[in-house]
Amino acid sequence: MNQKENSNNLICPKCSSRLETFARGLNCSNQKCTFWIPREIRQKVLTPSIIKELIENGKTRLIDGFHKRGSSQTFSAILEITKEWKITIRLKDQEKYECPKCKGILRSFERGYKCSNEHDCGYVLWNRYSGKELSQEQLHALLLNKRTKKISGFKRKKDGKLYSAEIVMDESGSLSLDFGRD
Ligand SMILES: [Zn+2]
Ligand SMILES: [Zn+2]
Repeated sequence: MNQKENSNNLICPKCSSRLETFARGLNCSNQKCTFWIPREIRQKVLTPSIIKELIENGKTRLIDGFHKRGSSQTFSAILEITKEWKITIRLKDQEKYECPKCKGILRSFERGYKCSNEHDCGYVLWNRYSGKELSQEQLHALLLNKRTKKISGFKRKKDGKLYSAEIVMDESGSLSLDFGRD
């Protein structure tokens, strides 16, 4: 590695040692410290200005160009340093949804929403249901109205054919399919 790449003037937020640039990201120069920032998250290369912002503020503004898993689709998110000093990806600061189980606050994460009251409640609303990836709009509809609009392509157990259905949420936050009337 050349000297120029190594001199980034960045300080580890965890232990205040110098951060060093490596091919796969930034590592704390203090061997006992495990803090590191990957060069790339979800195929989004973290620019020096993103990294600087993350270190200085503990989080970034909304960044676009993250890739969904196994897909060419991209999405916007905020990067944040957690209390455990890990870099986490968070969908944008949006309206707060109430946990259907404990009435606490749900937090968005890359695979849906989970209750911020993780230990006592543990409720998770996944962004996949019955083989379908649910859009932000559909999750929003579920959390606010307890039901989505009709979504096509659900397989019905009865005959194995594909039908349109609405996803509905019950009192406890569990989902089911409403195929409507035959
Ligand atoms: Zn450190
Ligand atoms: Zn909850």
